[in-house]
Amino acid sequence: MSTGLVWDELYMWHDTGTSAWVIPAGLTVQPLAHIESAEGKRRIKNLVEVSGLLEHLTLLKPRAATQEEILRAHTREYVDRIKRESDALGGDAGDLTPFGHGSYEIALLSAGGCITAVDAVLDGKVDNAYALVRPPGHHAERDSGKGFCIFANVSIAVHHARQVRGLKRVAVVDWDVHHGNGTEHAFYSDSSVLTISIHQDNNFPPASGAITDTGAGAGEGYNINIPLPAGSGVGAYVATFEQVVVPALRNFEPELILIASGLDASAMDPLASMMMTSDGYRQLTRVMLDAAAEICGGRLIACHEGGYSPAYVPYCGLAIIEELAGVRTGVEDPLLGLLAMMGGQSLQPHQQAVIEAAAKLAAGLKARAAR
Ligand SMILES: [Zn+2]
Repeated sequence: MSTGLVWDELYMWHDTGTSAWVIPAGLTVQPLAHIESAEGKRRIKNLVEVSGLLEHLTLLKPRAATQEEILRAHTREYVDRIKRESDALGGDAGDLTPFGHGSYEIALLSAGGCITAVDAVLDGKVDNAYALVRPPGHHAERDSGKGFCIFANVSIAVHHARQVRGLKRVAVVDWDVHHGNGTEHAFYSDSSVLTISIHQDNNFPPASGAITDTGAGAGEGYNINIPLPAGSGVGAYVATFEQVVVPALRNFEPELILIASGLDASAMDPLASMMMTSDGYRQLTRVMLDAAAEICGGRLIACHEGGYSPAYVPYCGLAIIEELAGVRTGVEDPLLGLLAMMGGQSLQPHQQAVIEAAAKLAAGLKARAAR
């Protein structure tokens, strides 16, 4: 098994400025730092290196996405504005997405990193890959940034797989704790791309990600939202994947699966209220690897999204990449015992009710495929 790791130090130089987490600096708040900082991601890379896992991975050098590639997912007016503001002192892409000088080029490299991972897997250079990119992408809309995301990395990678590499069906599984609104909207009327988002019910963006939003027109049925209740733990997540995600993938039969890999469903995250652990992410990765092996020759790529506990995300990231590579470094998550003992880690009835409703949507894909 060979696993690619997309990484570039420049990802860490994307400047989100000074604020107090997401509160713009001003006279009512002492400046702290923006919560979407380099720290969490750099510390994943560092733990991958210190643990010895890096020696088992194939480093993939990202290329910048081209204008043509970015314009498959965004309006020219929006892309031009980001470039103009980035060439000056920086700006705000929209809705909590400040950026500094040079962030345009770094955002191109972030989207390009996901394309690099797609090509490496489709060319058989690696079996699977983790693109540890920054800035994230799944909230970015066609004409606006949102939620720390500038360009829609995963959507741009899907367009590449479809339009350039000629794949007929691609699936995106978004386990970031926030709704993957940008990815949903990009393919809402498209039956060739199955979008699945597992998120905390009505967290961010507000009023986004309802289970009733299932796609439109030709894409009806090809968008599945699983809005889990706040407080969901490993039991709810594993059940969601076994009862909804895997059946949906089996029915859809994608040729490639992308994971929008936010690590902000962890119990230590300040921007959500879920209870996932590093071992929970390891289990989800195992489920996804088995599904990919069964359905699409193992072609699985995870593209990094959110995750705001710099202390804890490295353990989650390491667990995922270890599982992808089939290597155990022996690094123990020192918090795992504590988090696993927290009340409510097992599947609860009110969580199962949501999962059962979503499972009906997954089953509905079978009838669509038969037509
Ligand atoms: Zn998130």
